[in-house]
Amino acid sequence: TVASSTSADLFEVHASANPVPADERAELLAAPRFGTVFTDHMARVSYSQADGWHSRRVEPYGPLQLDPATAVLHYGQEIFEGLKAYRHADGSVWTFRPQANAERFARSAYRLALPQLPEADFLGSIEALVRTDLAWVPTGEETSLYLRPFMYASEPFLGVRPSLEVEYLVIASPVGPYFSGGVKPVAIWVDQELHRAGAGGTGAAKCGGNYAASLLPQQLAYDQGCEQVCFLDASTNTYLEELGGMNVVVVHADGSVVTPPVSGSILEGVTRSSILQLLSDAGHEVDERPVALADLRAGLADGSITEVFACGTAAVITPIGRLKSTDFDLTVGDGGAGPVTMRTRAELTDIQYGRAADRHGWLHRL
Ligand code: PMP
Repeated sequence: TVASSTSADLFEVHASANPVPADERAELLAAPRFGTVFTDHMARVSYSQADGWHSRRVEPYGPLQLDPATAVLHYGQEIFEGLKAYRHADGSVWTFRPQANAERFARSAYRLALPQLPEADFLGSIEALVRTDLAWVPTGEETSLYLRPFMYASEPFLGVRPSLEVEYLVIASPVGPYFSGGVKPVAIWVDQELHRAGAGGTGAAKCGGNYAASLLPQQLAYDQGCEQVCFLDASTNTYLEELGGMNVVVVHADGSVVTPPVSGSILEGVTRSSILQLLSDAGHEVDERPVALADLRAGLADGSITEVFACGTAAVITPIGRLKSTDFDLTVGDGGAGPVTMRTRAELTDIQYGRAADRHGWLHRL
């Protein structure tokens, strides 16, 4: 385990006077629906140009009061992160590569002209919140506590310039297994018209605007009977980028694995980089290079591409069973979950849940 310094002890805890009673909490934890239930507290740090980062605290979870002129409501100057706390069989609670999320948060902040939150505060806020709400980390198989750090422009000012005041918060939501009843392959709509990000844009940052841009294409994908949308590069409309909230990986019959490079317009997933490491450890040839849609179609047709999967924190790995667009409808392999996909998924979750050795030092104890 890599010991990293955090500022958890600097967070003043203001305990909720009305925490959810233990029996009600147990009921909520038994079958949580993603993103609907939140713990008793949230962590918070405030920023002003004059005082820098200050007022580190854990306080009761509750609504924010915003002036109608608050900058984020008008210009969307906002970033966020997503990671999970996992409970191991011995009851201990761990996060997975939180430093990678801290580093990505810092890169996102730079691109959105937001102030840099010190890494010690990113890690410290998570530690302070999870320790306060430790009882909210579920115990069931493939359950976890989803953590959502975010930062927004809080200055009430309508001028278009970076906000001089910023709020940073972390909220936490218990989540059940992403696939209840076994991992199920999804159908993907390849959008050949709409894009989520372009060269020089904000695609590599985890900012709300990217997700706003993905909502309509995602809805059009649903209308086509697909669960998710896959975007192509905005410059040439030729190469795969990623899904609305997951990276994409292609497995060949010869065992080699390819994923689109971090081009500047896709999000550099923590799951993506972890999986590439595990695949490489397992002897697969791993390449980060552009994947042309035409080559993917040809590879699926001639059998040289056997598996395609998506990866991200929420679902870990989601097998892709079908790729569809305006001019094609292709089954991946036999449409089921492939062996490389499922083996890699098991390897990663075994590390996250403490069932396998953490040989890369990815876990961080809370
Ligand atoms: N791409 C996008 C657009 C995402 O929102 C996410 C989820 N954060 C990912 C990829 C996967 O990233 P990670 O593995 O860090 O969750």
